[in-house]
Amino acid sequence: METTRDYYDVLGVKKDAEAAAIKKAYRKQAMKFHPDQNQDDPKAEEKFKELGEAYEVLSDEDKRAAYDRYGHAAFKAGGMGGGGGGGGFGGFGGFHDPMDIFSQVFGGAFRGGGGGFDDLFGGGRRDQQARQRGSDLRYDLEITLEEASQGVEKELEIEKYGPCRTCKSSGSKSEGGARTCSTCGGRGVVTQQSGIFVRQSACPECHGAGQVISDPCPACKGEGRVQEPERIKIKIPAGVDDGTRLRSSGNGDEGLRGGPAGDLYVFLHVRKHDIFQRRGEDLYCEVPVSFAVAALGGELAVPTLEGRASIKVPPGTQGGTIFRLKHRGVQDIGSGRKGDLHVEVRVEVPTKLKGEQKEKLREFAESIGEENSPLHEGFLEKAKRFFNI
Ligand SMILES: [Zn+2]
Ligand SMILES: [Zn+2]
Repeated sequence: METTRDYYDVLGVKKDAEAAAIKKAYRKQAMKFHPDQNQDDPKAEEKFKELGEAYEVLSDEDKRAAYDRYGHAAFKAGGMGGGGGGGGFGGFGGFHDPMDIFSQVFGGAFRGGGGGFDDLFGGGRRDQQARQRGSDLRYDLEITLEEASQGVEKELEIEKYGPCRTCKSSGSKSEGGARTCSTCGGRGVVTQQSGIFVRQSACPECHGAGQVISDPCPACKGEGRVQEPERIKIKIPAGVDDGTRLRSSGNGDEGLRGGPAGDLYVFLHVRKHDIFQRRGEDLYCEVPVSFAVAALGGELAVPTLEGRASIKVPPGTQGGTIFRLKHRGVQDIGSGRKGDLHVEVRVEVPTKLKGEQKEKLREFAESIGEENSPLHEGFLEKAKRFFNI
């Protein structure tokens, strides 16, 4: 769930706090509530996520300005069902946050993607315990413009760590087979002092786990989790755009030895469309119109994301004229309001005229002379001024 607490209160800063103060407050609080430091306190993880959400908004100039003006409504998917079918946001085990709230905080922290989760906090873990939170995972998903506009449900196959059923994620073959490591006393790190320097390093006995398993589960080799493909359904709300990131909480890697699972981040890529270009919630396309229809006026069939529509082209329509079809664009993810479709007509000049057609066109050109060319007249005026004649 997104937080409804005031973001400034969450971080404990004043409304006019400067960027540096916000960053400082966030780091301090995030260290305190980091899930790795508070594995027995489920509320800490919520709190940590709330902090991340507040920081994501307040650290971004644009998002902060939007928040100052509109409050939480600026980032809410206001009560639309998310495009048909049960549940909307909140289905599939806490699916939420279509607004890319967490991306910055977790940037580059995904498994296999550079720096580890803890790099954010500039240092090694302390009080390492046997249980460890699983990694966050990233999945890049390509969708069509139609799917982005209307919302869609997708099933992803993800290679990830899931719980080991053999040992119920304990990592031990027999019950109670895990004992606290005597070398480090369960802390996972050992401290060495030489002169004034104190160095901490991972415990050589338990390799940082804090526990030693005397008879590891053969299925998972003591990890409490196994890597296997898993099918995960996600619901993509209507109005997402290229670059939108969705978080599916708890669908990342299973934790080590029963630790909490990480989250899955789905990065959306919208495939280029053959006909439409999208800018914000508005769509743009070009539609050819024959010279005759442009001159005489008539009906013109135009494509929309929902199928065919038609527009009335008035007589004397020039190439480049843009017709706007209201509410035929893409839905706004926040308000549910739809953008418009802008259709630009392109007047076609025929290229394969036959003898008789050419003849008629010459006749036509003679009959029309110069006087019925609205653009040409204006252009002539300008050209005269330009050349001073
Ligand atoms: Zn196992
Ligand atoms: Zn140890």
